Amino acid sequence: MVFRALVTHKDASGNVASAIEEMRETSLPEGDVLVGVEWAGFNYKDGLVLTGQGGLVRDYPHVGGVDFAGRVIESRDGRYHPGQAVILTGWRVGEIHWGGFATRARVKGDWLVPLPRKLSTRDAMVLGTAGLTAMLAVNRLKAEGVKPGDGDILVTGAGGGVGSIATHLLGRLGYKVYAMTGRPELAEPLMRLGAAEVVGRDVLEGTGKKLVSPRWASAVDTVGGAPLGELLKQIKPGGAVAAIGLAAGDSWNATVIPFILRGITLAGIDSVMQPIAARVGAWERLTSLFSSKVYEEMTQEARLEDLPRLAGDILAGQVRGKVVVKLAA
Ligand code: NDP
Repeated sequence: MVFRALVTHKDASGNVASAIEEMRETSLPEGDVLVGVEWAGFNYKDGLVLTGQGGLVRDYPHVGGVDFAGRVIESRDGRYHPGQAVILTGWRVGEIHWGGFATRARVKGDWLVPLPRKLSTRDAMVLGTAGLTAMLAVNRLKAEGVKPGDGDILVTGAGGGVGSIATHLLGRLGYKVYAMTGRPELAEPLMRLGAAEVVGRDVLEGTGKKLVSPRWASAVDTVGGAPLGELLKQIKPGGAVAAIGLAAGDSWNATVIPFILRGITLAGIDSVMQPIAARVGAWERLTSLFSSKVYEEMTQEARLEDLPRLAGDILAGQVRGKVVVKLAA
């Protein structure tokens, strides 16, 4: 059986490029479940993989796509049967394993999550890794004792995938969300998603001080780098920051002052290696909280052939909300 894939190659000079190819199912990697991919998500990490950055891919040729949803075609895993709808996010699929930028994927049954009954495969990928990560961050803030009445919550990188979904989920849960974006044109869509206010990136501009007036009860941070360093100085006593990403960098200058004078918590979120039980719980909660109708204006459909161009856009912080890739005819 022949299928279509966006295959990424690296040449002898180290240049990485991707093109659509027809492949045979026999070229797929080992695994117990063959999935007919209907939709894939498109994430910051996919941008890194398609441009050969971040050292994420070990072997070429490679098929990227860190998350996908589709239907089981064949299964040697008793938990999955042909026709069953499934989701895959994380487990380093699309990085060290072949991923969802293809109409077929063969993976381990252990990596799959059954699609929740009320979710379509398209909506599962509108959410994808970004949605799962946003949900895990929101759950973590709750576990740290952050309540809707505590005050303003800052979401950074709010115009991107994780940030926009976090804004939506927190808004639905009754938190007062301040959505931080470098794109003023996204103010209205972010308010419709659930933000109470939209602020510019200047709220986290460097002050050179070790501590500033407390401003935020808590925060979901998708950008890391210097803005995260500033954010920690602005968190109210006892507040928490869920740290997700590094769109603005992976390091910052820090002191222990906000931790020891204000007792704040910096909580890291990893969606990639989350155990299945936590994933299933998060997907159920996402299904009940997320409105694909409200989020539609932040959703963009793409085809495999669009992805090399979109890779540059997402790394430049230019993608609005989420891109979903249509694979089924
Ligand atoms: P997107 O590119 O969709 O969103 C990132 C957003 O960050 C941009 O849209 C932009 O938003 C903002 N941004 C970009 N550059 C800068 C900058 N220099 N300074 C301040 N803000 C900036 O990516 P995703 O939402 O898919 O992922 C966000 C981050 O989270 C990435 O680093 C990704 O690797 C990470 N991630 C981590 C996961 C985990 O398990 N921990 C899972 C998924 C993602 P705006 O224009 O609105 O300011």
